[in-house]
Amino acid sequence: MSCMSDKTGKLITDDGLRLDGRRADEIRPMKIEIGVLSRADGSCYLEWGRNKVLVGVFGPREAHPRRMQRADAAVIRYKYNMASFSVEDRARPGPSRRSIEISKVSREAFEPVIMAELFPKTAIDIFVEVLQADAGTRTAAINASSIALADAGIPMKGLITSCAFGKVDGQIVLDLNKEEDNYGEADFPVAMTQDGEITLLQMDGHLTSEEIKKGLELVRNGCKEILEIQQAVLRKKFQTPIEEPAKETSMEEISDIENKVLEAEVSMKYASEATVVEEIREEIKVFEEDAPKKIAEEGTVAEEIHECEKLEHKIEEAKPLVEEETLEEVIKAEIGEKADLKASLEIDPKITEFEELELIKEEACSSDAKKMKFESGGFAEEEIPLYEKSITEKVISEKTSESKNELEFKDKSRKKVIAEEAVKVEEKSEKENSKGPWLVVKDPSESGSKGDKDE
Ligand code: UDP
Repeated sequence: MSCMSDKTGKLITDDGLRLDGRRADEIRPMKIEIGVLSRADGSCYLEWGRNKVLVGVFGPREAHPRRMQRADAAVIRYKYNMASFSVEDRARPGPSRRSIEISKVSREAFEPVIMAELFPKTAIDIFVEVLQADAGTRTAAINASSIALADAGIPMKGLITSCAFGKVDGQIVLDLNKEEDNYGEADFPVAMTQDGEITLLQMDGHLTSEEIKKGLELVRNGCKEILEIQQAVLRKKFQTPIEEPAKETSMEEISDIENKVLEAEVSMKYASEATVVEEIREEIKVFEEDAPKKIAEEGTVAEEIHECEKLEHKIEEAKPLVEEETLEEVIKAEIGEKADLKASLEIDPKITEFEELELIKEEACSSDAKKMKFESGGFAEEEIPLYEKSITEKVISEKTSESKNELEFKDKSRKKVIAEEAVKVEEKSEKENSKGPWLVVKDPSESGSKGDKDE
């Protein structure tokens, strides 16, 4: 606290209002956020008036250096640091006499509640960073540290709450702001447990015992208010709604419900309105019982009639269309469809048949060539193999354009020519005294190489 003797104006108006509009017993508005640092075990960001404080709690964790360890309890370490930009005049970075003092008194404020004995040889570190200062930063930091410790799950007997009172314009006021701290006559920061046990008490300035008494009264009320805010924040974080598992209804409960329903029905019978309702219910019941039968009887008949009517209507609509089409077209369409279907189904056998026919055709063609050769006098009739003959005939009858009659005629004329030639040769032989008794069959159109060879 820095008391200013050269204050010029009044800090409290005649109406009892302070410069920021508060009354003597009012604290500045406070805003708390919990769990703001992901790497800390517990953290808290607190705004109190224009103060902005960030606290991170780490531990319990192994204490380093080891010489700091306590065999019977955890070591509590509290580091208060004011950011250089947190005040109007730049604060010199690093520890100062003031920050070391604040760190010490703040640590001692927590020692009565932290159950350090549960974590021997460990350390619980509380780091305070003042981001913006406007008087009362140590009290703000203690309130925030209390939340951060709880957030870290550090076992505590209770929360620590802190607030200051002071003397401004000869009046005892709660929670001094920067102007009141600078130009006031006294500053008295206090921290206490939730049971009201004071864990920190400092005084800067001059106060009478009466003023201290009055001031402590204000502080208690202020701390009570702050405690409510702290508890609300912690409840919001940790008090998650517990969903009770769905309970199965026991048989006893079911029978209880049934009895209650019966009782309700009985009681309804005695009420005049209930009687009317009961009559209506009876009517509905009778109707509901009869309804399915009626629906079953009438509904199906009506349905059938309806279906019949629909069909008749369709027939009437279709009649002119059917008359327009000839029967032949209809049959063609029907057969065409079926033939297409059959073809698609029997495509493989058809292909096989087609291949056979192709083969036969090829053979026939070659046979035809031979036949032509024969006809032109290249072969003797006997030279044509029987199977070729049969194939030729088959192909001729089935696949070629020549008719059977024509073929027979050609065959006959061919035989006739051969016979005539043979007769001629025979006559000639007889005439020329042929050497052999055999018959030379020779196509007259050919030179007779074949015959020569055969000879
Ligand atoms: N202050 C400052 N520079 C300093 C120390 C303090 O401007 O080096 C201001 C700061 O706003 C602080 C106020 O003086 O909040 C009162 O300081 P005090 O030592 O009384 O501690 P506090 O009231 O913040 O706990």
